[in-house]
Amino acid sequence: MFFDLCVSAPLRSILFSWLTSESPSLKTSCMAKDFAVVLNNGGITSAVATALAAQKFRPILLYAETSATPSARQRAAYDQQVTHFKPYREHTVSLPPMNAPNPAAAAHADPRAVAPVGPRLVELLPLMAIASQYAAQYQAAAVFTGVRVGPDGDDLAQVAEFFQIWSELIQIPCRLAELEVATPLLELEAWQVVDLGFQVGVPFERTWSCNQEGTDPCWSCRGCRNREAAFVQAAKMDPLRAVKR
Ligand SMILES: [Zn+2]
Repeated sequence: MFFDLCVSAPLRSILFSWLTSESPSLKTSCMAKDFAVVLNNGGITSAVATALAAQKFRPILLYAETSATPSARQRAAYDQQVTHFKPYREHTVSLPPMNAPNPAAAAHADPRAVAPVGPRLVELLPLMAIASQYAAQYQAAAVFTGVRVGPDGDDLAQVAEFFQIWSELIQIPCRLAELEVATPLLELEAWQVVDLGFQVGVPFERTWSCNQEGTDPCWSCRGCRNREAAFVQAAKMDPLRAVKR
């Protein structure tokens, strides 16, 4: 099958290089692990990014909520992930509401539209700033996000540049030379994130992808359809679906 032949080996190599790369915590195993601040919104990519961070660092989880788009289900999934990952600390930050049209939100509202990257990066600006500030406070070694774009195209270059500039901003004028911005899922396909998640023991039943606020996922919105497609392509059973059916 196409995916088995062409992609499994690179994915294994991503995981291997990630787990074996040099880090102060691995070099000095007798010392406590360094901290990493992890942005987590209760979703799948957040959970996988948290699991990867926890391999090498003591995670500090950061949940950002906006009054414009409160999601009790996302929040509940985040709380369940906190219970699972047992981070060193976890913080919730409330972002002020924006009383202006939001192009990114408008694109989300149309199920056929592909959201442009620029507005999504604008939404990330305050989150990266807050995460960087927490990282400085804790003298953390890394800021993790689960942002995923996929392997191809201009979008990847645009988002990679965004994080490269953030990294330079933090390290050069802010004088946090040791602080790394980690985006381990950036180039992966959605199904590869699921596959990687299974390899690092992600509790997928504690993640929320649905755009609705029901007790159970609706399995028909775009969030649910994308989730289902990723699990099918990865040839894995979604524990959230298994539990509820
Ligand atoms: Zn749904």
